[in-house]
Amino acid sequence: MFRNFKMVSRVVFGRGSFNQLNDILAEKRKHTDSFMVFLVDDVFENTGLKNRIPLNDPDMLIWVNVDHEPSTAYVDELTRKAGAFSGQLPEGVIGIGGGSTMDLAKAVSLMLTNPGSAADYQGWDLIKNPAVWHVGIPTLSGTGVEVSRTTVLIGPEKKLGINSDHTVFDQIVLDPELISNAPADQRFYTGMDCYIHCVESLKGTYINVFSQSYGEKAFDLCKEVFLEDNPENDDKLMMASYFGGMSIAYSQVGVCHALSYGLSFGLGIHHGIGNCIVFDHLEEFYPQGVREFREMMKKHDIQLPRDFGNIEDEKLEKMINVALILEPLWENALGTDWKSMMTRDKIKALYISI
Ligand code: NAD
Ligand code: ZN
Repeated sequence: MFRNFKMVSRVVFGRGSFNQLNDILAEKRKHTDSFMVFLVDDVFENTGLKNRIPLNDPDMLIWVNVDHEPSTAYVDELTRKAGAFSGQLPEGVIGIGGGSTMDLAKAVSLMLTNPGSAADYQGWDLIKNPAVWHVGIPTLSGTGVEVSRTTVLIGPEKKLGINSDHTVFDQIVLDPELISNAPADQRFYTGMDCYIHCVESLKGTYINVFSQSYGEKAFDLCKEVFLEDNPENDDKLMMASYFGGMSIAYSQVGVCHALSYGLSFGLGIHHGIGNCIVFDHLEEFYPQGVREFREMMKKHDIQLPRDFGNIEDEKLEKMINVALILEPLWENALGTDWKSMMTRDKIKALYISI
């Protein structure tokens, strides 16, 4: 069977395109009491962006905090808040922020129309009802969250996405000006998420010409952005993230992501930086990718944290469990016979080397 995947229905791209959000939302405001729910990264609470959000009288604005990566419990809390705001559902949920905030917006839009806890839906195609119309507006680029069919959440037992066609955004607004003030190290870590998506997708066994076409373009854009100085770097990084996300739509990520999920579950390390920490140790699997990655780190003067203290055995076992759940990632990276190559002991050794 060929994957018949859903794509984002509408895309706006360009510097200043955020100003068009009011018009985009106006089309969806059906009645005088229609309202939107904005989930906005609280890093913008005291910035100029706050005054540019097109809030109408009945709208709800929730500042979300992403000091920790999104959890199912946080999604449940935000869904309760948004659901209790009025007797009816919002016309739209709009996420403005990095990958974490956009994932929260996806998850809340799904949970407003599906009963129970977000934790019940971590997995593949468990969502039954279409989500509330939802919009993603990145303020960091690299994760590909703006185009992916998942929202990655930390649940009680696992870090795993709610993967479904309903998860995909209905509208995205790609305004490169919104990423221009991100801190340099965060911009690098999130940008490397895209670079690593490309390496893992292009080197994977699931690769086909569809994925390769997007992946190669994103890969080249990442190298341009992080190895050259170009006035259009923000625009390029934004498109790299989009293309990188499209590349994995028809393929998968690999070893780095599987290990990095365990790292973030066990040690609370964020996705972008976690990927960088892991990738630096994966020369065995991605020799050329790792060499170029080190060049980019050097150019941007990035020092990765190296000392994580002593990790107790029990925690290490849990991290290995989280990594091993991600079977499609291992199969993509190592082929159908991956289980004979990637044993618990091998994963343990890799975690210890990190
Ligand atoms: P993030 O959203 O976690 O944000 C990182 C930090 O940067 C936060 O402190 C945030 O407040 C801050 N920030 C965001 N935009 C800023 C800006 N313009 N200026 C200043 N500070 C800003 O970072 P991310 O790397 O974009 O996203 C990582 C998240 O994405 C993880 O939770 C990961 O699990 C998820 N992810 C999801 C998918 C998917 O397909 N759903 C894919 C990859 C990653
Ligand atoms: Zn990633």
